[in-house]
Order: sequence, then structure tokens, then C-alpha cells
Amino acid sequence: MSIKNNLFKILKNIPKNVKLVAVSKTKPDEDILEAYDAGQRIFGENKVQDLAAKQPRLPQDIRWHFIGHLQSNKVKYIANFVDMIEAVESIKLLKEINKQALKNNKTINCLLQFHIASEETKFGLDMDEAEEILKCEDFKKLENIRIAGVMGMATFTSDENLIHNEFNTLRKYYEQLKQKYFSDKEYFKEISMGMSDDYQIAIAEGSTMVRVGSAIFGARG
Ligand SMILES: *Cc1c(COP(=O)(O)O)cnc(C)c1O
Repeated sequence: MSIKNNLFKILKNIPKNVKLVAVSKTKPDEDILEAYDAGQRIFGENKVQDLAAKQPRLPQDIRWHFIGHLQSNKVKYIANFVDMIEAVESIKLLKEINKQALKNNKTINCLLQFHIASEETKFGLDMDEAEEILKCEDFKKLENIRIAGVMGMATFTSDENLIHNEFNTLRKYYEQLKQKYFSDKEYFKEISMGMSDDYQIAIAEGSTMVRVGSAIFGARG
């Protein structure tokens, strides 16, 4: 199937209020353009070098989401154009994003990444760590970042129950944070969860944003 057909098939499967991030990591410009020409505007990359190389070559109205682990010293390479940094897990990184956003006279949307999987290898905060960030005085001074919600990845498993439970946990984290820290903040509204193999489960558990790569662009080499 073509990229365009894959994309339309997925769009048919997700409700209108759920955003689709087309994860184009490792894929060439022509693949991205095929999805773009079919109407897709939000794309996700997980390597700074790749994203910084692709962005100038591709249409300027693409909204780029950085979905990988971001090192503070690399924020400067993407700050001037990135729309959302999805995987923030430290105050140090937030401070650097704020600094670079300020330099570029803009506000950068960020999501707090939570560790919900049972696998040790995945990145992310637990609730205590997230609250530590949100309560600290340094955080309150950051005026050029906006915490737009939460993000997480489920365990890579065929156990659908486990995946349901993990996504449900992320939704609960979101609701707790919303109530405690963001009840008057309309922009705190995103729960980014769900990938090619589990986006339908994620949507059933309240996802507002799915990040789908291989089901659109095919398997990565
Ligand atoms: C690669 C990646 C995805 C997309 O994975 P697929 O299984 O190809 O859909 C989603 N989120 C993150 C953080 C990723 O790194």
C-alpha cells in the first residue's frame, strides 16, 4: 500500500479530535512529501541531526514534533522551528528549552514524558519526579515554555491488558496534574500515547495524540 493509502486508513480509524503525528524518523524527504501532499502536517523525528537537516528542505508549514530523548546542548539546533518537544523529563532540559525559546522570541510547547512501561529501558518520569519539577521555583520562572500535557510509551508486548493498564495510568497522571497544577490552563490538554501497534488501545484509554510511524511509512530498515 502507498503512504497515502496507509495514512487515510489510519485517519479513518482515529476520531477527529485525536491528532496524528506522522513519525518520519529514518525516512527520506520524498516519503514525507507524499504524506504532506495527502494533507498531513504534523511530523515527528527523534534525532536532532536528522530533524535539523530535513526541516529546511521541506515545506515550512510542517509542524515538527521532537519525540526522542533530547540532550540540553542540542536544543539550540531545533528551537527556532520546532512546534513541540514531546519527551521532556528534567528541569535542566526545560531551562535550556526556555532559554533557546526566549532567544527566538517564541514559546515552545513541551510534554512531560512519563515512565509507564514495565521495561526498564524506557525513559520517563514518575509522579514524584514530575511534581518536583512543577513545584520548583526555577520552573515557575520559565515564561517561554508551555507544558501542554503528558507523553508515554507502553511496554512492547502482545499482552493487551498490560497495554491498557499502562495507558490508563498515563491518563490518570494527566488528570492528577491537570487538577493540581493546570486546572486554569486551557493549553494543558494533550495525552500523547499510542504508536503503530497500540494506537487503538491508546485512543480507548483517552489519547489525544498518537505517534504513528511504520504503519504509515512502512518498516524501518
Ligand atoms: C519511533 C517512535 C514512534 C513510532 O513508532 P511506530 O511503531 O513506527 O509507529 C512513536 N513514538 C516514539 C517516541 C518513537 O520513537
